Amino acid sequence: MSKEKELSDKLVEWYYKNARTMPWRVIGGAHPNPYEVWISEIMLQQTTVKTVESYFPKWINRFPTVQSLAKADIEEVLLYWQGLGYYTRARKIHECAKVLVEKYNGQMPSDRNELLKLPGIGPYSASSILAFSFNKRETVVDGNVIRVIARLYGIEKPVTKEEIYKLAEPLTHPLHSADYSSAIMDLGATICTPQSAKCLLCPWNNQCVAFKKGLVDKIPLIKKTEKKNFDGYVHIIQNEKGEYFIQKRQEKGLLNGLYEFPWTKERTPIFEGKWKQKNKVVSHTFTHFHLTLTPLVIIKNDFSNEDGFYSKIEDFKKYPFSTLMKKVIKVLQD
Ligand code: SF4
Repeated sequence: MSKEKELSDKLVEWYYKNARTMPWRVIGGAHPNPYEVWISEIMLQQTTVKTVESYFPKWINRFPTVQSLAKADIEEVLLYWQGLGYYTRARKIHECAKVLVEKYNGQMPSDRNELLKLPGIGPYSASSILAFSFNKRETVVDGNVIRVIARLYGIEKPVTKEEIYKLAEPLTHPLHSADYSSAIMDLGATICTPQSAKCLLCPWNNQCVAFKKGLVDKIPLIKKTEKKNFDGYVHIIQNEKGEYFIQKRQEKGLLNGLYEFPWTKERTPIFEGKWKQKNKVVSHTFTHFHLTLTPLVIIKNDFSNEDGFYSKIEDFKKYPFSTLMKKVIKVLQD
């Protein structure tokens, strides 16, 4: 038996005893519903398992099939995505659902080239869908897999995803691809963790170079990129009826299509006036920058722009707000 087959058999065996249960996961073979696999995989990009565990059941309850999703209004889809961040993912899911219904009879294709033609499905999502739903021998490489493979092979230099893929591919189980892919992710999430890896419990510790050489805490080598800081204002414009001015963000770019109070990345108010500054600031970290917003409050009945309107706070639940703006609402409510 090859070394790779031995490793993958051991890992699958470990998984059958230690698998984490998740609402979108089937243990012991392919998931019968590619729609659920697809939704969970897109939700899990940039979002933790714990967060997705609370969103996924509500989503499936409201949009149980690709047809129900395709028929829904985008604003409702965004409401169900509210808080997960990276809202382009929700827009693409909605777009993709429509294409699946119109061109694929509501079925998820099981062919890589066909999957890659769909909106929002890139090489990673395609591999995940093929492995988890169709048990195809596909190598899924995420952050957990990068760490595990880099340690297993003792790679002490910065490494690319492509290099990891080349090492991970021969390990992918020929028969149990779905379970193997879940297994390596679970190993990374529960045993081969970024700090304090539990190597003594690891099914690969006999063959692991980093463990043998005492390099576990030094691998993988990660280059940290500095995030920029922005310090701006969020404008709470209230009319005499007690309603707040909110606006819908333009369709493209950061937080597109979500609702918000007008805000700036700099400490320049959007118009001159008798603003009162709140003591509490709101902070949020995006992929490339940190943002701190100081709320400015003013009473003004006639503020307007083409994307905004005044709304009662009780009606905010009708509109999808970003996590950043939910923090602002919390400050208002406090
Ligand atoms: S032995 Fe330790 S470092 Fe190596 S793969 Fe297992 S948990 Fe990770």
